[in-house]
Amino acid sequence: MSAHKIIIAIDGFSSCGKSTLAKQLAAKLGYNYIDSGAMYRAITLYFLRHSVHISDHEQVLKALDNIHLSFVFNEKREQSDIYLNDENVEPYIRDLIVAEKVSEVAAIKEVRTFAVGQQQKMGQKKGIVMDGRDIGTVVFPDAELKIFMTAEPDVRVMRRYDELAASNPGITIEEVRHNLELRDYIDSNREESPLRKADDAIMLDNSNLNKEEQLEKVLEWVKDKATNIVAGNIP
Ligand code: C5P
Repeated sequence: MSAHKIIIAIDGFSSCGKSTLAKQLAAKLGYNYIDSGAMYRAITLYFLRHSVHISDHEQVLKALDNIHLSFVFNEKREQSDIYLNDENVEPYIRDLIVAEKVSEVAAIKEVRTFAVGQQQKMGQKKGIVMDGRDIGTVVFPDAELKIFMTAEPDVRVMRRYDELAASNPGITIEEVRHNLELRDYIDSNREESPLRKADDAIMLDNSNLNKEEQLEKVLEWVKDKATNIVAGNIP
């Protein structure tokens, strides 16, 4: 495809398959994939481990001062692992204990400023696919391609349940449903950068699309955008 590298921003509700699509696109296009949710999850893990009170401004700032996040490519997973102060925390950040707290932590203004600044730096050279909740609205408002993903709630619950069941034995479908509903509610209603579809984002409902169909559709959009840029049709 085009050598002209763009930024692809993917936002949407929890468990819509954003990371699956982002990963497929990055592999196909030779782009970097950044899972912005992993950053909020790693920060939450630190807060849990250090008993940081999220209502205590000073404690939050001190904690952020002690947090260094980085991504290191993992050949086996074919995607980057997130490191929290030199520890690979990928095995812990998907646990329910983190999922139950992450939306509250991600709603804190200072936490968002901390994460967004790093995310914007990662996009400086373009050639990046980033997924999250505010990528097209706040992190990369000028991204060439913005996608807003959604899927039927039941489809999303089962996808996340299948993902979590192996590492969280005993977890129930109802627990997963409750967590998804709660996170979507907090993410959509928070004051700081709430989850919103950017005006210029393309809506993608993948309830009835398999991974291959979805990828094919989005690659067409990438091709259109890249062709338009080369032709000078996009400012
Ligand atoms: O994408 P994932 O489900 O791993 O994200 C975990 C949580 O991190 C979300 O529920 C949301 O609260 C927060 N998040 C965010 N902004 C992003 C990415 C994730 O607030 N860009």
